[in-house]
Amino acid sequence: MRTLIFSLALFVSFSVCLAGQSQQPDLKAFEEETMRHYQALLRLETMDPPGNERPAADYLKQVLEKERIEAKTFSLEPNRPNVVARLKGNGRKRPLLIMAHTDVVNVDPSKWTFPPFAATRNGGYVYGRGTVDDKDNVVAALMTALTLKRLNVPLDRDVIFLFEAGEEGSTRVGIQFMVNQHYSEIDSEFCLAEGGGVVRQGGQVKYATVQTIEKIPRAIELTARGVAGHGSVPLKTNAVVHLAEAVAAVAKWRTPIRINDTTGAYFSRLAELSKPEEAHWYRDILSTDSKKVQAADDYFLDKEPRHASILRTSISPNQFNAGYRINVIPSEAKALLDVRTLPDEDPTKFLEQVKKVVNDPAVEVAWSARDVRPSSGAAKLDSEVFKVLEANVTKTYNAPTLPTMSTGATDMAYLRAKGIQCYGIGPATDVEDGPLGFGAHSDQERILESEILRFVRFNWDVVVELARSK
Ligand SMILES: [Zn+2]
Repeated sequence: MRTLIFSLALFVSFSVCLAGQSQQPDLKAFEEETMRHYQALLRLETMDPPGNERPAADYLKQVLEKERIEAKTFSLEPNRPNVVARLKGNGRKRPLLIMAHTDVVNVDPSKWTFPPFAATRNGGYVYGRGTVDDKDNVVAALMTALTLKRLNVPLDRDVIFLFEAGEEGSTRVGIQFMVNQHYSEIDSEFCLAEGGGVVRQGGQVKYATVQTIEKIPRAIELTARGVAGHGSVPLKTNAVVHLAEAVAAVAKWRTPIRINDTTGAYFSRLAELSKPEEAHWYRDILSTDSKKVQAADDYFLDKEPRHASILRTSISPNQFNAGYRINVIPSEAKALLDVRTLPDEDPTKFLEQVKKVVNDPAVEVAWSARDVRPSSGAAKLDSEVFKVLEANVTKTYNAPTLPTMSTGATDMAYLRAKGIQCYGIGPATDVEDGPLGFGAHSDQERILESEILRFVRFNWDVVVELARSK
């Protein structure tokens, strides 16, 4: 009964947005078609590396062109095309870009209960690499494009769909190539892409996250230098020891806490929907009382490390290279620090702080090469898009929306740096599914059928509300 009322409510919400238009999509047909395209896309092996998005690009192009939607491809490498489709509006507003990536991370087939590229439906789930990263967004974009075209929805703005290659570690063939060489094809006011989601716990939706900003991945290299010698005669100048002390010092260092608009709103909204025993930490971290802040930070570092990370520029020493045989004191030792800077961090000043923490003339501290993404401001929390997302989360999921800052990086960074307001969204997944090994980049990957269908409807509702002529 509960289920019946629920699906009835969904149906009402799905069709209400089309009030005033001549046609409405048939929900059953819409969902059947969603599942058909979704499974077809999941069955295409688009692993990156090596990177072979062509089958997905060909599939999308063929489906779009069958509906007379022009689909252009842009390839830096022949097997790695990006696909762009544009539905023209009357130009009253600047375009809306819907972006999704067609590549997926690698698999170890021996870890899978169902084959990773079979899109098996079992027990209410769809299994397959890409089910939540990112063929969910691919199928949502595709269905929205097809439905806008079929219903001939009059638009106040162009709606552009970008199906990009190379998100999983080879952005030079994907977003970098599109931004650097074909920017006019995707230039927009707003963009929706992966990076957010809806959090379910115990089968209940708790809240939705919309990513509005992200940290910037950087790398610091520590190089300790000392005197080489025979291992039977220990030396104070031993490079391994100096490096170990430097690594320990930076790892213990609590970098300064800085709250921005996104993280401030995130913690205060999280406090509102959490149990009292957790809620007070989320309030305390925003307090002006430094003791409360410190205690909350202690709690996060211990129990909720992701929350500790979004408070600050973080440092994680992840590589340590020293020595080559048991009886030789090496003259050099190196460590690499994974540094995720806050978007407004000044790298030069930050490096000076790290040098002070290391405080050892035998250890050189320097920024090291990394595929650094451009920095940018946050997408606004009072924009038309954020408001529409929030309203549709309420309507579709009956849950609050939390703006978030990613600790990791997404392709939205390149678009935000060009001035596009980008928002990361995604379907509902169970928090219990991650530790079981079914999340994005996990040994296996899956999504509830009901949730992929709900997300595609949500995407459609949002795009129609943002783009339809009013
Ligand atoms: Zn992804």
